[in-house]
Amino acid sequence: MILVVGSIALDSIETPHERAEDVLGGSATFICAAAAKLAPVGLVGIVGEDFPERYRRLFSDWGVDTAGLEVVPGRTFRWGGRYHSDMIHRDTLFTELGVFETFSPSVPESFRRAPYVALGNIHPDLQHHVLDQMEKPSWVVADTMKLWIDIARDSLERLLGRVDAIVVNDEEARQLTGQISLNAAAADLLAKGPSAVIIKRGEHGASLHNGSSLFSSCAFPLHKVADTTGAGDTFLGGLVGWVARSGGATAESIKQGIQIGSCLASFTVESFGVERLCSAGQGDLEERVSVLNSLSRVAEIAF
Ligand code: AMP
Repeated sequence: MILVVGSIALDSIETPHERAEDVLGGSATFICAAAAKLAPVGLVGIVGEDFPERYRRLFSDWGVDTAGLEVVPGRTFRWGGRYHSDMIHRDTLFTELGVFETFSPSVPESFRRAPYVALGNIHPDLQHHVLDQMEKPSWVVADTMKLWIDIARDSLERLLGRVDAIVVNDEEARQLTGQISLNAAAADLLAKGPSAVIIKRGEHGASLHNGSSLFSSCAFPLHKVADTTGAGDTFLGGLVGWVARSGGATAESIKQGIQIGSCLASFTVESFGVERLCSAGQGDLEERVSVLNSLSRVAEIAF
């Protein structure tokens, strides 16, 4: 089983073309939707009593074990964002913590021996608190965001010493280390503890740095980008889902997981929320993985 913790949100999103309100989002939501396509998942999270039943039902439809989902009086976490014309950069319009304000994640007894742990983007203190309750997981992967580097850097740096892998985007890698070169940033992050550093570069792909080798992957080429919210979380869900399905983290399963994560993220950006990701079947995923794998394959170059 993969234990997933993170936010469960109602998002209000404005893109240059469209807007949508109270869309199901949050880091844990996208991780679960992606990972559950590949392996059993248990969710630890919190929502308010206003959380729509139809959204709650989705988690069960995906086969996610929701024993660790608390429903408490109050409002569900809400986030609002407005995208720039590049659909990469965005401004946060509001963050309403609601029930998240007093959230202290409690891992159900039945999840504590989960071999895989995905620490989705939430305050690093909460990520620590989840890890404190786990019994020797074999692979822990964490995500974060600019906000936590700004306001909780010490806690985040300590977290790096407790995880096997960290997934960050290029801006976060530079901000965390002060390095300009992503290669140098990855080396600095590796020196802080994790044995794998995965750096996402949006539509330019992602790279794996593990100290002994470097792997670089393209993003799946798309024509239509509706909303990039949750692409990073979906990527993480695909990665951890594949590592779990492969029976453990090896350099090869992590590389394959990066390809799977990129393809699953390509579905997420084709719609608001999880709609397109949910409608993608295994055949759709296999097709995209095969295209992606073919993109940088060349015949041997003989001089
Ligand atoms: P991503 O586009 O991968 O960065 O993830 C976007 C998701 O992160 C949205 O669905 C938001 O609800 C969620 N989110 C935004 N800000 C926060 C925050 N401060 N803590 C936890 N989740 C957040």
